Amino acid sequence: MERKGLLLVFSGPSGTGKGTVCKALVEGNLDLRLSISATTRSPRTGEVEGVNYIFLKKEDFKRMIAEGQFLEWAKVYGNYYGTPLPFIQKALEKGNDMMLEIDIQGAFQVREKIPEAVLIFVAPPSMADLKLRLNARGADSPEEIQKRLCCAIEEMKLACEYDYVIINDEVARAVEQAQAIIKAEKCRARYLKTYLAKLISM
Ligand code: ADP
Ligand code: 5GP
Repeated sequence: MERKGLLLVFSGPSGTGKGTVCKALVEGNLDLRLSISATTRSPRTGEVEGVNYIFLKKEDFKRMIAEGQFLEWAKVYGNYYGTPLPFIQKALEKGNDMMLEIDIQGAFQVREKIPEAVLIFVAPPSMADLKLRLNARGADSPEEIQKRLCCAIEEMKLACEYDYVIINDEVARAVEQAQAIIKAEKCRARYLKTYLAKLISM
């Protein structure tokens, strides 16, 4: 059955658990791939070039913007982040489902360019939990955590603009909800349009 892949866009405040949920989703689904973003942020301890991010110098990132090499890009918490276009294009054409884990500015840029993209907002059960998770992750300085918490309220205000919201209280439940969204999206008439057209032309 010939179909284009699904494009799933996950956003939500830093520390809400997007990475955790997306990783679990990929592990349970061989057809699902996670896009690797480019960033000008410095690698955190344990982060690997080409696995977690493509780490770039600011001038290289800006050159890629000028060359139109990003599906979307944004400045987030003072650094540049972007989704390289060629990999996404190829994967979707091949029928692979792709996940992007990007900020809200990037998510709305994707919706502009690819209206059939599915926007999923991952929200924390409470702001207190979000703070605990950012501290427990231990990846960012106290100043960096404060910056992320301040942005979180503004980000949460835009959750209702998304197609779906997952409250990540328990990872297993959040993953189940994301799997349910994928299943539902694959039953959408617009997703099955090409298949249905072929069926009646046989
Ligand atoms: P994000 O990608 O949204 O910035 P992470 O996936 O890095 O967030 O998660 C931030 C921290 O919260 C990590 O230490 C992770 O293990 C933890 N975490 C994620 N989901 C949950 C959950 N449902 N309950 C408790 N802790 C969680
Ligand atoms: P972190 O520095 O914690 O890895 O990511 C910080 C923020 O940047 C998160 O909200 C994350 O979703 C976002 N981000 C990561 N990659 C991209 C990207 O390619 N584009 C955009 N717009 N945001 C991204």
